[in-house]
Amino acid sequence: MQSTGRWAANAFFCECSDPRCDRTVTATIQEYESVRERPTHFLVAANHENPEVECMISETERFAVVETLAGEASKVALRTDPRSLYEPEAN
Ligand SMILES: [Zn+2]
Repeated sequence: MQSTGRWAANAFFCECSDPRCDRTVTATIQEYESVRERPTHFLVAANHENPEVECMISETERFAVVETLAGEASKVALRTDPRSLYEPEAN
């Protein structure tokens, strides 16, 4: 991977609807942050969008940005409140 010196490329995990997906996506911090500004927007590898549950927002040669549709609200909840995944017993 080459660095242009103007921006740093980072690898992020694909956030598509396939829980077994282990692809990584190359994007800059700025690109990733702009996607995550909206809790319903996700960064996925090119061609990993699922039109049944996601709406394509934008696409580049490196990745796609999708917005989850209403039925995938649980996916958004997982990101915004990770503590709800597991609450240890108090004792
Ligand atoms: Zn994927």
